[in-house]
Amino acid sequence: MGDLPRFSDVSDPLEWVLSRVRPGRRAKAVASRWGYRPYMVERYLNILGSWAEVGRFLQAFELSVSPSVRCNTLKVEDCGILIERLERLGFEVKPIEWAEHCFEVVGGVNTVSTLGATHEFLIGMYYLYRGRASLLPPLTLSPVAGERVCDLAAAPGGKATHMAQLMRNEGVLLACDVSRSRMRALRSNVERLGVRNAVLLRVDGRIVPDIFPSHFDRVLLDAPCSGEGLIMLDPSRKVKTSMRDLVRMHELQVELLNAALGSVRPGGLVLYSTCSIAPEEDEFVIAEVVEGREDVRVERVDVPLRLSEGVEEYFGLELPDYVRLCVRVWPHIHGMEGFFMCLLRRVG
Ligand code: SAM
Repeated sequence: MGDLPRFSDVSDPLEWVLSRVRPGRRAKAVASRWGYRPYMVERYLNILGSWAEVGRFLQAFELSVSPSVRCNTLKVEDCGILIERLERLGFEVKPIEWAEHCFEVVGGVNTVSTLGATHEFLIGMYYLYRGRASLLPPLTLSPVAGERVCDLAAAPGGKATHMAQLMRNEGVLLACDVSRSRMRALRSNVERLGVRNAVLLRVDGRIVPDIFPSHFDRVLLDAPCSGEGLIMLDPSRKVKTSMRDLVRMHELQVELLNAALGSVRPGGLVLYSTCSIAPEEDEFVIAEVVEGREDVRVERVDVPLRLSEGVEEYFGLELPDYVRLCVRVWPHIHGMEGFFMCLLRRVG
């Protein structure tokens, strides 16, 4: 790795990389066979290192993932009662070892639409997820009762309501989102689940540090992204995103992550997450933000399951070594939707 150009030596690292993504004949053939844009497959080969692994990865995107539920302890004292009721309705559930109060729905009438229409759902006994990876960010950021917490891109509220649950409804949770329609879904989820410590604000997250400078103990940025990790849930993503779209996503995420760091107090934590496996978002956003500031340090992600490290080299560019501390969820390795997380501490 020593001879490779480094991230900080290149004036525009993202453009530098993207100009080198040139799909070869085999990438084009594989892309056409599985229905992807060729540039995507060329990138998968670069990250994963062999066609055999690319094959396993693309195959995993063809499989379905089971939905999961989070028992809402703000309303349910004994999650066993919820499980009994779901089983009586014909669902087969299995505890998720690494996520307390959370269950994978592995059998029975386990369609998302059915699970979203039960009496138990409507009275707020659980939150429904299409997979499992979305449980990771709240557990990693791990807010506690009494803290000041901000979710900078919160709608429809899966992670915000999970954080309220971890905070036992104590302290303050500011849940922001820019989208009017998605705010409605957020409000409905907050009410249904009995969250009482949340303040909802429709705002562009980029101006939050102007309103609340250095204010929060913890900030979650579950960033708007390409969704390149969700292909098994939405196959249209095989062709939806262009390389230019990735650049636009990258720029917005850099601005939002800087806003998150501006609104957290010195010593506080920011968790950046995406449902994307694209290094153009993930590692390149982290590197650009960290290289541009003196007041931030990447921390190790501490979750009770083994995830993959961040990518340190991409199309011949060496990324800063701290990106190794970020984690990626791979569908073919971890059996979940593709996902990425990086934990940052503001140190000044
Ligand atoms: N965290 C949410 C959850 O768990 O339910 C999902 C968030 S989704 C990945 C990204 C969100 O970012 C979308 O709801 C979108 O409306 C919002 N968004 C996009 N641009 C934004 C901005 N500039 N400021 C705040 N929110 C934004």
